[in-house]
Amino acid sequence: MDRRDFLRTLGVAAAVAGTGLNGAPLSGKSKKPAPAAEDGLHLRFLGTGAADWHGPDARGEHRRFSSVLLDGRILIDFTASNIDMLPQGCKPECVFYTHSHGDHYNPKALVDVGVPLAYLNVSWIARARNNFSEVSLQTGLPAPKLVPLNIADKTVCGDITITALPANHAVNLTEQTMIYLIEKGPVRLLYATDTGGIPALAARLIGIDSHDSHAQPINGLIMEATMGMGDKGDEDFRLFTHSSVDTVRHTVNMLLKHKRYLPQEGQPVYLTHFARTLQPTQKELEATLPAPLVAAYDGLEITFKA
Ligand SMILES: [Zn+2]
Repeated sequence: MDRRDFLRTLGVAAAVAGTGLNGAPLSGKSKKPAPAAEDGLHLRFLGTGAADWHGPDARGEHRRFSSVLLDGRILIDFTASNIDMLPQGCKPECVFYTHSHGDHYNPKALVDVGVPLAYLNVSWIARARNNFSEVSLQTGLPAPKLVPLNIADKTVCGDITITALPANHAVNLTEQTMIYLIEKGPVRLLYATDTGGIPALAARLIGIDSHDSHAQPINGLIMEATMGMGDKGDEDFRLFTHSSVDTVRHTVNMLLKHKRYLPQEGQPVYLTHFARTLQPTQKELEATLPAPLVAAYDGLEITFKA
């Protein structure tokens, strides 16, 4: 058994010892510099857990709150739990928030890291302004510029374009939660957490709903599987706002059948936002998830190509 296989058998318990499944350090700053990724879209998972993770658990498993870093410069969601997962010397230029739940949005963490720009849905921008002003007063550090997004807005960040899409998720009665389409050259990656399935309007907006004759297939998919596998997952009370492994499996199989998801050969669909209390260990997930679903883990890095 080589070192990689040995680490794989340890599951994310390896993270506690400071080594990731891919050999990358999972605790403390990554020693690797932020990648340039001219070729394809580079993505690093800074966290893959849901709100019920608070450090390593009794099984030795550890997931930080869900967050990703695109091409070493753009964040989607960010909390204090993700700070140690930023590559050394990385100064993200902006963050796109999906919603304001505490496992996705933490104003102090963003101010501490010095991210100057934050995009979020217009429905909660007044509240966010107050939150950031308070943190800025307390810390003496500048608040980021906040930019309101409406559904279907496209934001161009250099060679990456990010489209705001509705999520099926609720924080309160007024906040519009969001998922994002990330486009770079021919790459079209849908990042879908937190959401119970893919909402019809989101599918229409990006061209993956077969009611629409004008197909615009995606070629990358990262989707939440908060609720686990089997009946336990599908009959959990979080059904209205989260997805199970089977929700993702059915979604992917349907999209493949209708050619609205055309990944590069062998490229998996990555699952994220695992609830500690509803999911088995990383090792068990790796042994049991049906292809092409793969469990992401903190520190996993992927380059999406098309
Ligand atoms: Zn949430």
